[in-house]
Amino acid sequence: MQQYREIKARHQDAILFFRMGDFYEMFYEDAEVASRAIGLTLTSRNNGGAAEVPLAGIPVKAAAEYLRRLVGQGYRVAICEQVEDPKLAKGLVKREVVETITPGAVFADDLLDGSRANYVCAVAMGRDTSRDAARDQIGVAAADLSTGELRLFIVTLADAPAVLARLAPRELLLVRNATQPELDAALSVVDNALVTHREGWEFDAQLAADELTRQFDVRSLEGFGLGSDDRAAVGAAGALLRYLRELQPGGLPHLARPLVERPGGIMPLDEMTRRNLELVESLRGGEVAGTLLSVLDRTATPMGQRLLRAWLLAPLLERGAIEQRLDAVTVLVRDPVGRTALREALDGVRDVERLASKAAAGRATPRELRALGDSLARLPQVAKAVRDVLSHANQGGSQGGELAHMLQHWDDGADCAAKLTHMLVARPPLMIGDEDTIAPGVDADLDELRALRDGGKDAIATIQQQERARTGIASLKVGFNKVFGYFLEISNANKHLVPDDYQRRQTLTGAERYVTPALKEYEEKVLSAADRIETRERELFEALRRDAGAAIARWQVVARRVATIDVLSSFADVAEREQYVRPELHDDYDMEIVAGRHPVVERMMAREKFIPNDLLLTSDAQLIVLTGPNMAGKSTILRQVGLIQLLAQVGAYVPARRARLPIVDRLFTRVGASDNLVRGQSTFMVEMSETSAILHTATKRSLVLLDEIGRGTSTYDGVSIAWSVSEHLHDAIGCKTVFATHYHELTQLENELAGVKNFTVAVREVGDQVLFLHKLIPGGADRSYGIEVGRLAGLPAPVITRAKEVLALLEGEGEQMAARLTADGMQAPLSTKRRGPRMKHQLHADQLGFFGEAPAAPVDASATRLKA
Ligand code: ADP
Repeated sequence: MQQYREIKARHQDAILFFRMGDFYEMFYEDAEVASRAIGLTLTSRNNGGAAEVPLAGIPVKAAAEYLRRLVGQGYRVAICEQVEDPKLAKGLVKREVVETITPGAVFADDLLDGSRANYVCAVAMGRDTSRDAARDQIGVAAADLSTGELRLFIVTLADAPAVLARLAPRELLLVRNATQPELDAALSVVDNALVTHREGWEFDAQLAADELTRQFDVRSLEGFGLGSDDRAAVGAAGALLRYLRELQPGGLPHLARPLVERPGGIMPLDEMTRRNLELVESLRGGEVAGTLLSVLDRTATPMGQRLLRAWLLAPLLERGAIEQRLDAVTVLVRDPVGRTALREALDGVRDVERLASKAAAGRATPRELRALGDSLARLPQVAKAVRDVLSHANQGGSQGGELAHMLQHWDDGADCAAKLTHMLVARPPLMIGDEDTIAPGVDADLDELRALRDGGKDAIATIQQQERARTGIASLKVGFNKVFGYFLEISNANKHLVPDDYQRRQTLTGAERYVTPALKEYEEKVLSAADRIETRERELFEALRRDAGAAIARWQVVARRVATIDVLSSFADVAEREQYVRPELHDDYDMEIVAGRHPVVERMMAREKFIPNDLLLTSDAQLIVLTGPNMAGKSTILRQVGLIQLLAQVGAYVPARRARLPIVDRLFTRVGASDNLVRGQSTFMVEMSETSAILHTATKRSLVLLDEIGRGTSTYDGVSIAWSVSEHLHDAIGCKTVFATHYHELTQLENELAGVKNFTVAVREVGDQVLFLHKLIPGGADRSYGIEVGRLAGLPAPVITRAKEVLALLEGEGEQMAARLTADGMQAPLSTKRRGPRMKHQLHADQLGFFGEAPAAPVDASATRLKA
């Protein structure tokens, strides 16, 4: 207990798994916490002291599952092992914490999701007060322990949430007791991350620079592209490294050199855009099904899967870089035969990135090391398939873009792969032991020992024959167990036949077990050979693993390339299968989509056909007001425009017949009434602050998609805000905008502003039913059809009938009221230059309290009158 307390004192914030023989024991509060969290039985033990000690234990063999559950719930667990052989220990066995596992720092496959990176991120504010804007700078350092990836981000405060949301860290390292309200706001986008506070000095840039140069054995950080202005990022990286070293006392040999990302190359995607476009998580439930990722994912490897996800969240801003990817996709699309060969080659490639990391960290099991070898052995085929595709393309005059870069200085480590597959048996065990790990013919010593062991086993088998003959007991048999070793087993019925030289070892109910000197002699040979085999195998295996691990930098590069090739060929596959086209990118303003489709909705349609739509955004039509009844397809069109633009900037083909697209600097998607209530703000407040962020950030080169802005308040408020937001986007910013709205009043903007065009989604009325045609046509809608949708949704017939009566009444009331209000000068504050909206038909049933929204004061009045 004294040893326990000493170790626990150094690991206060973790649950300590204290190794005792075949168990990990937890004591005191740890035991109570763990028993509550994962339902372990709490016992107590009197460990020689006066007081009872609460205790919970788990078998070492089952530890992985308990670990998974604890870490999954956000706990950190320190693993304290016996670090010397108890048989050789004098007195108390030495124990040490060999590793601390946290949600952000894990190696084990069962704690990881193969399809996404697992980041721990350190975040620091710029502290350099010598320049004015310096405090606005945020440094983020992100590490994925399982792959050895290390990335630094230098971002503005405004873009920090976008970067953090993209990384989706499982753990955040922050300065303890820092008062940084701006930063706290930025961090609020991170869900479900464990927050770990560290001392302020650990983020010191100078100290961090030392830490980094030591880790990567370099003289200065300039080689990484880091300068004296990047103090926040360097400081964050230093704190992160220090923390990870604490968690991994064995060191971080597999950590790759940091990649630095600065503003400019990647489009920051804010949280609402990422969520509303359902890029990698669906709005409901956060699953992958129903997302852009699910449609595009035809990757063959886990590295490819992770990279695809990362790419979708990081559209590019430089046209050159985008065209490189598109060129690669084009050559792959044009060569279906070559692509099939490539995909076949990729097929057996396992998670080289994580396997190599495990090798470098000395954790790969024999089976994992063989998997690394087998995967690496397939890489020459991958390279050949790419080479074939490229040579086809070259004949057609195409260079192959990004794909060609992948083959420059290609190093698939064929030498190392050959060594791994040569030295290891085809299906090695999980652990060195009973089954062979090292192949025969690799090591002469090992072969000799194995011959000895096998010879001994044969000799023992012969003894069985000899003894049966000598004693005349036909049922006599040789057996083995771990405690008694080899023995001769004789049933009780034959006990009287046992010769004098047999020595009894064990009595069972129906039999006795004996040994003889000859048996013991061979046993000794077999067991000592087995011991020495294990030792030798371990030596050879560890040397092999060290060799492979030493090449980690090579594997990281080649794994990244394989991932890139995988994603590009996945883009090509989807393009062909779903009939996407290459977007034509240009540096001008206009956006022209011919027969565009929504990539996800079209895939989910079973019987009906998806109706493609054209969309043109030019300087004459920079703001489209999109009206139309519920369920007509407004949101679908809105999102499909965003998705097509995003796909293009990711370097993928797009679902359309033709798409001429600009490069946009930002893409904003704001959808009303989203369920941000979890964050504790009112829906309307959230909506307004998100709209405010767009108005402050958007530029002429941005694409803004607004759905139902202003709905969370009274009709007059809502229309007024929607109107003035539109004016601002049109006049002051000049960005391309699609504004889907229920407020038909907004269609009047077309008459007021040069760049506004009205569109609606066509419906056909058949009798009293509505047919949704899903076709975009010029003009504005004049009705909402909210009641028809209510009928489709199964509202009782009397309610529908009454709603129609109320609507008719309200429309009449509304006309009068609008006239009154207009006369009262309602327009004046909206714009001094222009006329504001004429409030006609503004009161529709679905905007009233019947359907959950607070009615505005004027509506209240009329509603009261109605009741009367
Ligand atoms: P709104 O935003 O106008 O209420 P949505 O965009 O949510 O309507 O579309 C409602 C439903 O109509 C979608 O779930 C989809 O099933 C169908 N739909 C939308 N657009 C199309 C289209 N272009 N072709 C076929 N069906 C469509």
